[in-house]
Amino acid sequence: MSAQVQPLTRRWPIAEAGAEHAKPVPFKVFTQRDLDRIEQLARLTPEQRFEMKVVSSVLPFRVNQYVIDELIDWDNIPADPIFQLTFPQRGMLAPEHFDRIAALLREGADKAVLEAAVAEVRQALNPHPADQMQMNIPLDDEGERLDGIQHKYRETVLFFPSQGQTCHAYCSFCFRWAQFVGDKELRISASEADTLHAYLRQHTEVTDLLFTGGDPMVMKTRHLRDYLEPLLEPAFDHIQTVRIGTKALTFWPHRFLDAEDAEELIDLLARMVRAGKHVALMAHYNHWKELDTEIAQAAIRRIRAAGVVIRAQGPLIAHINDDPAVWAKMWKMQVRLGIVPYYFFVERDTGARRYFEVPLVRAWEIYREAMQQVSGLARTARGPSMSASPGKVEVQGVTEIAGEKVFVLRFIQGRDPDWVQRPFFAKYDESATWLHHLEPAFGEDKWFWEDEYEAIREERLSDAA
Ligand SMILES: *Cc1c(COP(=O)(O)O)cnc(C)c1O
Ligand code: SF4
Repeated sequence: MSAQVQPLTRRWPIAEAGAEHAKPVPFKVFTQRDLDRIEQLARLTPEQRFEMKVVSSVLPFRVNQYVIDELIDWDNIPADPIFQLTFPQRGMLAPEHFDRIAALLREGADKAVLEAAVAEVRQALNPHPADQMQMNIPLDDEGERLDGIQHKYRETVLFFPSQGQTCHAYCSFCFRWAQFVGDKELRISASEADTLHAYLRQHTEVTDLLFTGGDPMVMKTRHLRDYLEPLLEPAFDHIQTVRIGTKALTFWPHRFLDAEDAEELIDLLARMVRAGKHVALMAHYNHWKELDTEIAQAAIRRIRAAGVVIRAQGPLIAHINDDPAVWAKMWKMQVRLGIVPYYFFVERDTGARRYFEVPLVRAWEIYREAMQQVSGLARTARGPSMSASPGKVEVQGVTEIAGEKVFVLRFIQGRDPDWVQRPFFAKYDESATWLHHLEPAFGEDKWFWEDEYEAIREERLSDAA
């Protein structure tokens, strides 16, 4: 059956919501400079507002009127999960970093002095976790880096369209934060559709193309069309699946309803589906509150009606969703709305991770307790999964083998596909939050994949040098 797309007969809120608006809702955004213009922040103390300024001097901050008005419960700040998800909090910086920037702001330091200090603090926050730059960006025949493309796992190519390197709001824990703070060196984005298409034509082993960012859904539909439409040519028959990573369903569902080019967007996606591609929106969700507005649900209905599958993924984050009840409720709501739970990630080792990280053992407990509360249809989220340099490593559990307490791990994805689905074991460590904190169990001196990984790494780094 081909996908039927219903054109909107009314503007948002669409028919079901029963109200009519003549004009699209304008997108109104706030950044660090506008903190004082956000009315709701008047309820905070001047000290709290100053803390936000300090933190947002280092880490990116961007929020919009929809998030402020519809998603945050201002009677519950600072605890509100969406407030934590979008607004800077003091604990996101180490005390010494915080104090240094705070002192400079208080004394009205020179712009250059402040910028130099900010750059140093950023550099200390591991801006490029998992060697993304050197290890995943392919080279062309002349040995030039193909910026904007990452090819780590055989079947799947990641593409970072240059127009999609921002988001409708920023997550305070974002692992791509470095590219939002204006440091060009840290940015990974493509300039051209041609580069992508040429690469894919050559690489017929690739079945999946994943658009990511930032958020590709900040792009105008006509830019998205330049990337997507050529994929319908026979030369791209090997590309079965087009995934688009996005948090627009949370931060700006209007994108799919009453934005200027929403109609064209839905039509483009539906045409891809009709032409035989699997189109998946990889929706980033952290909390059920993101699914709980009328307009978010209207956007979900409309996307699904175009034949697009929505899959949900997101990290486990302290202060936001480190509670099995939150995940269970979120997964249940997703299934009811026709969304497929896909990944349960461990927060990466970058940026404000000191504030957000959750020990691996706790991550596993939360995952397990949440899974126990939901039906099989909601148990499709895999995890807890760490996107580390060798691959996606899942914590399968904690157990005791031959008298030793261990983590049972496995690769969901690996630089070498042969590593995938082989159980391996790490010494139990109750405070470990990432793969590099773990050591092999049973007195072994290395992981089964370590020699091969080191060889791949050396080869890639010398190529890229
Ligand atoms: C997660 C990921 C993918 C996609 O992996 P799937 O298991 O197919 O979802 C592709 N590339 C990178 C770099 C990833 O981290
Ligand atoms: S939506 Fe994704 S890329 Fe954008 S700020 Fe959030 S985590 Fe980062």
